[in-house]
Amino acid sequence: MSEDKRVRGRKGKRKLSRLLNGFRESTNALPDATIIVNAKGRMEWWNEASKSLLKLDPQRDKGRKVEALIGDAVFRSYLANGDYSRPLQMPSPSNDNITLEVRIVPYGKGKRLLQARDITRLQQLETVRRDFVANVSHEMRTPLTVIHGYLETIRESSDTTLNPWRHVLAQMSQQTDRMRRIVEDLLMLSRLEANTQTKGQEEVNVAAILEAVKDEAEGLSGGRHRIHLHADEKLWLCGIAGELESAFSNLAFNAVRYTPEGGSVEMYWSLSDGRARFAIRDSGIGIGAEHIPRLTERFYRVDVGRSRQSGGTGLGLAIVKHVLTRHGCHLDIESMPGSGSTFSCEFPEYRICRVESKRNETFAIHRPTGAVNQP
Ligand code: ADP
Repeated sequence: MSEDKRVRGRKGKRKLSRLLNGFRESTNALPDATIIVNAKGRMEWWNEASKSLLKLDPQRDKGRKVEALIGDAVFRSYLANGDYSRPLQMPSPSNDNITLEVRIVPYGKGKRLLQARDITRLQQLETVRRDFVANVSHEMRTPLTVIHGYLETIRESSDTTLNPWRHVLAQMSQQTDRMRRIVEDLLMLSRLEANTQTKGQEEVNVAAILEAVKDEAEGLSGGRHRIHLHADEKLWLCGIAGELESAFSNLAFNAVRYTPEGGSVEMYWSLSDGRARFAIRDSGIGIGAEHIPRLTERFYRVDVGRSRQSGGTGLGLAIVKHVLTRHGCHLDIESMPGSGSTFSCEFPEYRICRVESKRNETFAIHRPTGAVNQP
């Protein structure tokens, strides 16, 4: 090798080592814990923040398995699971009062980068926001109920001197009723957010719930729509009946409210590839693709006027999203403006608590019209 080449090689190595040191220094300065885990699951390197947030000791822990140090059971199953698309929240091993958000990024040949961020402050703010909404809603509930009650009493009075005010009283009553529904929905959301554990699990006869939801939807429709239910009566879910009823009825009421007179609403409940599938299809106004990702946000409406006019609170789909998440599934929305919409979800197999028949039967409970086509 020529002298020239050797000099260039030495210079290259020095440059690389400077770069590496620079990288280590900057990673060391990060407030988030960063750990490099090799293909054998052993910790190769970590930064300063890992010492305080994850209680790592440079002498003792180098080369040890990461799960041997972070004993949290949820963390272990997250690590073993291999699906790192969502971060994990867990208490810091060094202090229970600190909440960490952990991300794992696979890279190279079987290596993983583990990052942990202190989100205690964020969580505190979130709790303050949640409590504030819950308290305001709770405080508003009683005065609204009283005002609504008195308004109804006045409206029922046969006193003719009230006649010029009948229209105003009707409007007042309508608006207080709307506020009452918003408050009820906000309280429902607060309850769903506050209770992360799905307490009160039971065997839920979903077909029976859907039958009741269908009856209510028919009441709302007042005969203006064709509403059908195709439900597998033997397919039961393990979940919280009240929450599921709330989710299904929000979807059914929306289908009626956003479908013009003469349209149809079809509800399906069946076993599909080992999962329990609910779907509701309407022939209504449909939704533009740009709105679909935002529909489950609180108070997001495609058309505010239409939503209010049809008695919407803007919170229905936010409630649906929360309930479904708590039952291990998510809401799928397929829609095209003018061609109707399909809202569906698939409950995982572990949620199915009683299937007397394993055959994929579908019962057309109301007016069977030939084959039942799944959307
Ligand atoms: P809202 O009380 O306004 O109906 P939701 O959270 O239930 O609130 O729904 C959010 C928005 O999604 C609605 O305002 C409406 O624009 C749209 N949407 C919901 N369901 C349907 C549907 N079946 N067809 C068309 N648009 C819908």
